[in-house]
Amino acid sequence: MNTPLYRPPAEAGSLILQVDEGCPYNRCTFCSMYSEVPYRCLDMDEIRQIVDAERGRSAQRIFLADGDVMRRPFDQLREILELLNDAFPDVARINTYAAGSGILDKSEEELKVFKSLKLHTLYMGIESGDEETLELVCKGETAEQMVEAALRAQAAGLHMSIMVLLGLAGTACSAEHARNTALVLNRMQPRLLSFLRVVPVPGSGFAGQIASGEIEQLSERGVVEELREIIAGLELQKTVLRANHSSNVVPVEARMPRDKATLVDQLDSLVSSGKLDGDSPGHMPLWL
Ligand code: SF4
Repeated sequence: MNTPLYRPPAEAGSLILQVDEGCPYNRCTFCSMYSEVPYRCLDMDEIRQIVDAERGRSAQRIFLADGDVMRRPFDQLREILELLNDAFPDVARINTYAAGSGILDKSEEELKVFKSLKLHTLYMGIESGDEETLELVCKGETAEQMVEAALRAQAAGLHMSIMVLLGLAGTACSAEHARNTALVLNRMQPRLLSFLRVVPVPGSGFAGQIASGEIEQLSERGVVEELREIIAGLELQKTVLRANHSSNVVPVEARMPRDKATLVDQLDSLVSSGKLDGDSPGHMPLWL
């Protein structure tokens, strides 16, 4: 298998097992992760071979790649989880990426079965809580669907790690993106929340939307102002918040609600410091 392998930063120490290739949707304009990868679910014989090659090693945390493993039908994913529990008796957490639709086609009872088989954290990129912004970037799911999915997963005892993209709505709809994202996050109450800045990867649909003028890219200062607006709108009860990806203008790590007021003050100070570029996006990473 020679396809790119993606995992969240928090999974750096996990055993990564690739049970799928690519993303079944693959049409979000901002995402080029799997643009060259035809979607394919490995069959159980292939997965058994991969697992057997690792069998016997200690693995308390496992991350199942690729783009949307929850999309698999209930019986298939249960079989994979059972196989992992058998091969790695000390496994405590099995985590994976999940889109809303792959959660919503499972019942709460089915999700509880996954939970009993050590499925623990689902990483979901909601990108925005604003329906128009989601349409603009062809997300393929609505904010309402993603809220429903997150609540169902959490009702079954699973943890949600939610990812939001700063700058996704450009200058025109930044305020709506910020306001509606905060509202959606308040309904979801995720345990983990990450902010990344959208990077217009050359050749991506999002880069094309900027080039055509459909989206006007936020300045460096605009991105920080947007983050400040989202955080100011958050009413979270118990969430670890991070914005420490290489794409972020300023690294942030906080516990909510404890650190909210301090964080808003710090971001206000940064915005008014004159240190941020108000005319251009400033430094962007060359790769993600
Ligand atoms: S953002 Fe997620 S759902 Fe959209 S194309 Fe990329 S991997 Fe697929």
